[in-house]
Amino acid sequence: MPDEPPRAVPENILELRDVRTHFPIHRGFLVKRQTGAVRAVDGVTLSVRQGEVLGLVGESGCGKSTLARTILHLIPATSGAVILNGRNLGQASRTQLLACRRDLQMVFQDPYASLNPRMTVRAMLAEPLLAHRICGKKDVQGRVDELMRIVGLAPRFARKYPHEFSGGQRQRIAIARALALRPKIIVADEPVSALDVSIQAQILNLLSHLCREMHLALIFIAHDLSVVRHISDRVAVMYLGKIVELGPAEDVIDRPRHPYTRALVSAIPVPDPEVERARQRIVLQGDPPSPINPPPGCAFHPRCPYAIARCREAVPPLVPCGPSREAACIRLDELP
Ligand code: SF4
Repeated sequence: MPDEPPRAVPENILELRDVRTHFPIHRGFLVKRQTGAVRAVDGVTLSVRQGEVLGLVGESGCGKSTLARTILHLIPATSGAVILNGRNLGQASRTQLLACRRDLQMVFQDPYASLNPRMTVRAMLAEPLLAHRICGKKDVQGRVDELMRIVGLAPRFARKYPHEFSGGQRQRIAIARALALRPKIIVADEPVSALDVSIQAQILNLLSHLCREMHLALIFIAHDLSVVRHISDRVAVMYLGKIVELGPAEDVIDRPRHPYTRALVSAIPVPDPEVERARQRIVLQGDPPSPINPPPGCAFHPRCPYAIARCREAVPPLVPCGPSREAACIRLDELP
């Protein structure tokens, strides 16, 4: 991809303030009582600027997808605030929430499952335009054609059904549908992981181009750090429901500070076979702990090669560790 000019720093479109999403666990036959909770998202504070691409990475089960659904208000937050364009979604009325939904759209991992197989692409794209009164019946055809062109598909394909398209084309249609309401922010949950590698680059370039052209913010969720580095301005690394490192994408991936980010980065394959053979991988021992009963103190301590007794005492907060960078580790200054 050719070098593109750096972005200006615009205002925040989305703010998350200490967001927690816990799922209660109930036990008992006649009398049900809560015996615990799955702490899927456990105190996330973040902001996303207009036109910014924020990559969200972490192992499966770390809470990335739950956080995405909490942002979209598909799952209500247990506590904390999700603020979109200055409005707290937790306190918004039904009408206000409906208006906010126009600004906030989602692209899912599996484009086939997210499209209605019984509707033509034209009907699918026209539906939100008419329902939200973005345009009248006589203008809808023109807007559908425009959306098709924006995502790189010929307007004549709009009369086809989803099964008549390839995986990459279906994901383009899903992106066109997300764009239909002219949103301010799109949350894309692993949008390329179900696609062939050759198609992944096309979809990534399309998303990147749309963000620049339409000044659209994007939360890009993935577990592949090389993909995230390619598209993101900033990266947030999640572990067991919390952000453990946050900063500019190149900085975080080229010079990771938190031991968990270091392990993730060390697993990225290098295309040069000699470099790949010579470098040392950090292999984490064991599985991620259960979000039902997270370890005390730093939740990463059972797997951290640098853990000391002090790491078990308190949850480390995110602290500044460089220009626009933060990490949650009490030993940042002592690590090699
Ligand atoms: Fe490792 Fe301790 Fe830092 Fe947690 S606080 S990442 S256990 S060194």
